[in-house]
Amino acid sequence: MTESNVLTQEENLRENRAVEAGTYEEKVLVRVENLRKYFPIKAGFKKNYVQAVDNVSLTIRKGETLGLVGESGCGKTTLGRTILRLYEPTSGKILYDGVDITKAKMLPYRRKMQIIFQDPSASLDPRMTVGEIVGEAIDIHKLAASKAERTEMIESLLAKVGLNTEHSNRYPHEFSGGQQQRIGIARALAVKPEFIVCDEPISALDVSIQSQIVNMLEDMQKEETLTYLFIAHDLSVVRHISNRIGVMYLGSLVELATSRELNRNPLHPYTQILLSAVPVPDPKVSRSRKRIVMQGDVPSPINPPSGCRFHTRCPYAKAECSAEVPPMREVQPGHFCACHIV
Ligand code: SF4
Repeated sequence: MTESNVLTQEENLRENRAVEAGTYEEKVLVRVENLRKYFPIKAGFKKNYVQAVDNVSLTIRKGETLGLVGESGCGKTTLGRTILRLYEPTSGKILYDGVDITKAKMLPYRRKMQIIFQDPSASLDPRMTVGEIVGEAIDIHKLAASKAERTEMIESLLAKVGLNTEHSNRYPHEFSGGQQQRIGIARALAVKPEFIVCDEPISALDVSIQSQIVNMLEDMQKEETLTYLFIAHDLSVVRHISNRIGVMYLGSLVELATSRELNRNPLHPYTQILLSAVPVPDPKVSRSRKRIVMQGDVPSPINPPSGCRFHTRCPYAKAECSAEVPPMREVQPGHFCACHIV
């Protein structure tokens, strides 16, 4: 079986699932326009900024999973958290369901927009029982009319994520990593959200547990018409779960396309390098592939390279690359890329 056959099967499965569920709509749920998030730091007497997210624009459609990939420290998590306004944006706009929420009061939107964290053990309060953790959001948003209804809601959420009623009285440290992540997912689902930022939800888990969590997230998306921003550094996971994929490098979005298109026709040199590093199960295909090795280290986001931020490591860099920032252009319908030579 060739590599492209493997991808086709995965892609078809994913698209069939979306079509079956009737979840993939054209309606834009989240729109981000020229978003920047700079963190101030002090270097001696000089004030400086970590340019974690720089001028990112994208849309997330209702019912879709938008994957976000890139090396550690490229700004994926910061972008996800800024969209949720857990970090205040430095500039730019965030629109949710057509409403500008960049400066809005967030309490009504906290119910609609949730997050699943990377490290489940660090994101669960060790002094609270599982029932208290899941019930907290129900209380804040006054979603249960009585104590009995609250208990019923907690039990049904635990059942939904594969835990049982007795787990409600236990503490997070009594659970494995996979179970702790299930508790985190139950907590996110407690408020019946529409949009969830899945911030590397499986990278801290054993490989054997990862697929269980991914399958559960996919099943829940089908049942509840959820929209995901799925952040990961592992492109093989992201392309399995995502309808479209955005690639980030040093705070900037460099390419955005459907999962199928990005796998078959990666245009940005950075995406090509990332894809060449994804392992292929067939040893014959694996041997015939050319692995592109990236030069050097990621530059500092405090003082990023001029022009194209990737020019210090790009094998195709030309003189204009360090002088001018390449604009994000729609190279083919729905396929966007920021590179001077594409
Ligand atoms: Fe490489 Fe230039 Fe394209 Fe940047 S703009 S990715 S440096 S070719």
